[in-house]
Amino acid sequence: MSVSENLASIQEKIEQACVRANRQVDEITVIGVTKYVTIERTEELIAAGITNIGENRTEELLHKYEVIQDKADFHFIGTLQSRKVKEVIGKVKAIHSLDRLSIAKQINNRSHDPVDCFLQVNVSGEESKHGLKPEDVLSFIKELQPYEKVKVVGLMTMAPHVDDEQEIRSVFRRLAIIRDEVMREQISNAPCNYLSMGMSNDYEIAIEEGATHIRIGSKLVG
Ligand SMILES: *Cc1c(COP(=O)(O)O)cnc(C)c1O
Repeated sequence: MSVSENLASIQEKIEQACVRANRQVDEITVIGVTKYVTIERTEELIAAGITNIGENRTEELLHKYEVIQDKADFHFIGTLQSRKVKEVIGKVKAIHSLDRLSIAKQINNRSHDPVDCFLQVNVSGEESKHGLKPEDVLSFIKELQPYEKVKVVGLMTMAPHVDDEQEIRSVFRRLAIIRDEVMREQISNAPCNYLSMGMSNDYEIAIEEGATHIRIGSKLVG
């Protein structure tokens, strides 16, 4: 399937999910995850109209950035190593995986301007997943306050890879509740309006539960 055929089918499902949830389609940003594919396929995606690109490895992001430059906005969605932070600063629109103070410190030291960050939360509690424990999110945000260049624009999670829709839904719902708690605190560098959740297999559920950024790879470019 061509990228534009995949995209048409995804857009239709996004619209239907928005209708069910009484939301507007323009509330949802589709991040095309290109970690599996070549620059050519990524350019096809951009030509089809997806200008937000997600990569989970620094090397691959830099490789694609070199060619694509400002024809797209890059989102870093993988585990970031402290020593690699300086290489992506200035090249990414947002970092979706902040869960350690050491990374926040690097961002603060390396950037002139505030960097949009999502805090990754391990809602499901799976050992294999990165992210803050739900109960630690607020205290982590308070610890971030000295790092003025770190702007917490939202929260990110990954649902477990299961067939049980209710289990997936409860993970997304929990993230939305935590987001609401953070917003209520009105912390100056943590507006936390956004929810980055939903991938190829569960983005419709994520939209129904309030996702503002969905990260789709295999169903879009695979
Ligand atoms: C790979 C990846 C995605 C996309 O996954 P698909 O199931 O291929 O849509 C989304 N988010 C993160 C953090 C990823 O690593």
